[in-house]
Amino acid sequence: MPSKTAKILILGGGFGGLFTALDLPGAGEITLVSDEDHFTFKPMLYEYLSGEVAAWHIAPNFSELLDDVKIVRGDVSSIKLENRSVSIEGRQAPLTYDVLVLALGTTTNYSGVEGAEEFTLPFRTISDANHLRRRMTETLDRIQVDAAPQDTREALTFVVVGGGASGVELSTKMSDLLRDAVKRRALRGEPRVIIVEMTDRLVPGMGDEIREYVERELDRHRIEVHTRTRVARVSKTGLTLEHNGRETEIAAAGVVWVAGVRMNPLIEKLDVEKDKRGLILVEPTLQVRGHQNAFALGDIAFYPDVAPTLSGTAQLALQQAHLCARNVRAFLNGERLTTKHFVELGEALSLGTEHAAVLSAGKVMAGPLARQARFAMYTARLPTWHHRLRVGASWFFEGTEPRPLQPLGF
Ligand SMILES: Cc1cc2nc3c(=O)[nH]c(=O)nc-3n(C[C@H](O)[C@H](O)[C@H](O)COP(=O)(O)OP(=O)(O)OC[C@H]3O[C@@H](n4cnc5c(N)ncnc54)[C@H](O)[C@@H]3O)c2cc1C
Repeated sequence: MPSKTAKILILGGGFGGLFTALDLPGAGEITLVSDEDHFTFKPMLYEYLSGEVAAWHIAPNFSELLDDVKIVRGDVSSIKLENRSVSIEGRQAPLTYDVLVLALGTTTNYSGVEGAEEFTLPFRTISDANHLRRRMTETLDRIQVDAAPQDTREALTFVVVGGGASGVELSTKMSDLLRDAVKRRALRGEPRVIIVEMTDRLVPGMGDEIREYVERELDRHRIEVHTRTRVARVSKTGLTLEHNGRETEIAAAGVVWVAGVRMNPLIEKLDVEKDKRGLILVEPTLQVRGHQNAFALGDIAFYPDVAPTLSGTAQLALQQAHLCARNVRAFLNGERLTTKHFVELGEALSLGTEHAAVLSAGKVMAGPLARQARFAMYTARLPTWHHRLRVGASWFFEGTEPRPLQPLGF
């Protein structure tokens, strides 16, 4: 097939899809399909919630990042590998392709908990962060200035379900934002932020050194941690926890659900070889088994030879995207496809608006300096040089101060 006119269809504009597209200029007629008009650098969604960064920093529009790539905004509704076609909701003619790149990511896993999908707030997108920020602000706005400390605490109870990195990063940011707002509004009392985790420890999969630091920070932020605790059900006004067979009800102004991920429903329906968690089995070249012209990467793909701690991470999807683009080109040019060993690029946890912890080469750096290091590390991973430079300059010259939860209407 003449490679310059080959149709390359990329599904998903996250770490896997966008970074593949960025590495493919001139490889063919490229189309990227996404249900959003922008990329989201999810590891910094917590900083967006706190206002330390703006939407344009971490969620630039595809049109600003990609030249010569056709962007189709819409929901993919079906993928037919045998016909080489993909349908988009509300669009009559399906899109056809010569080469397909699947990078559709995962969704929130509510694990069948009663009321969870209906009443909790997810935290995966810019709009999720906006909703949570608004919920916190509206809750603060309803508290009377002369409220008793206990009433303030009850009104300002927020629960984060899931004690992984997301739960820790989110709860510390929420705690700092709420505490700052209580002070600014001269309210009496303090917020109550709770983490609920089903296993016996927080941040499973991370080393003991970083966990010790995380625990100290949670303590400093006065976050209440409930391990070995299951959410039995969620309602409009709160949730019921179960620990050691005993149930406790907690009234909450908001419950945020960051307890695990579920395979994208489109991938669940796709008839290809998968592992027992539903991840697509790919060859070391990222080709979907039995489908040479289809590639899969990121959270939906099971790649042999990947450390368990790397799977389901942006750093893996990012590295795979470079290999994917290289192999798409090789496939179209009739050349030999290659493989790659993916490495850990270091981990960084945001811990409130002033601190962070960075784990690199087995060493933990923590505190305000680690926060700066985290910003520097993530600037380098943003898409395109041009965007990195603009964002880097903005953070350097305009600063990264959090934006207080001002009363609505200000
Ligand atoms: C809040 C948060 C914080 C995180 N922090 C970190 C971190 O610090 N470090 C780290 O390594 N990883 C982190 N992760 C995980 C990381 O973001 C994912 O591993 C990574 O995004 C996977 O890339 P992907 O391309 O497979 O999927 P995604 O980046 O999720 O991209 C999938 C894209 O497909 C789109 N899509 C899905 N379904 C459809 C459809 N039907 N039609 C059209 N478009 C569709 C989605 O909107 C999305 O844009 C975090 C995740 C979250 C949610």
